[in-house]
This record gives sequence, structure tokens and C-alpha cells, in this order.
Amino acid sequence: MESNRSAVMINDENMSCPLCDTVVRKGLFVCRGCQSVIIYDATHKEKVEAAKLGAAMLGIVALLLFLDLPYWLASLFSWRLSDATVPVALALAIGSAFYGGVLFWNREKRKKAGIPRFFR
Ligand SMILES: [Zn+2]
Repeated sequence: MESNRSAVMINDENMSCPLCDTVVRKGLFVCRGCQSVIIYDATHKEKVEAAKLGAAMLGIVALLLFLDLPYWLASLFSWRLSDATVPVALALAIGSAFYGGVLFWNREKRKKAGIPRFFR
């Protein structure tokens, strides 16, 4: 697992190994030419890293929203803050953070699933 490169797509069925130029049918998990491992999705480690990054970013966004949103709304709309405003803002922040997390996760998955990679 020292080097990895994206496959060269020939058509929907076939691709060319970027490490040894052998034509490999899509769906195989090992290159017949050089025995490199073909990964079609993100590796487990990459999924964990993406999840950590997403969680960290969303945590920061949620915290900023939670701290600033009531005051931002107050200054923007001249709303008077009541005791109900903060829980509502918190619920909105958590909801949007969750929604953003789902979007982020899906985007990462699509990006990685596009072109297979060869590991050797
Ligand atoms: Zn190969």
C-alpha cells in the first residue's frame, strides 16, 4: 500500500492500470498485471478521517451559531431576546449541522466512488 493512483478509464466496462498499463475489467479487485489492489470506494481509514473532519467543522459551525445567532438575529431584525430564543437557536444550529453533515458525507462518498484507485 505504498503508492496509489487513479485508474485510467477506457470506457464504462474497462480501465487501464495506472501502474502497469494492463487493461482491467471494472469489478475486479486485483490487477492481473501487477497484483495491485483495486479500491472502488474510500478506504476505511479515509472514511474515518472524513468523518472526523466533518464532525470537527460542524462542531465549530454549531458552536459559532449557538453563540452568535441570537445576537445576530437581534441586531438584524431588532428582535428582543426572550428565554425561548436560545433553545430555538440551538435547535436550528443542531438541525442545520446535522443536515450539513449528511451533505458533506454524501459528497465525500461520491467523490471517492467516481474513479477506482490502484494500490501497490
Ligand atoms: Zn497493474
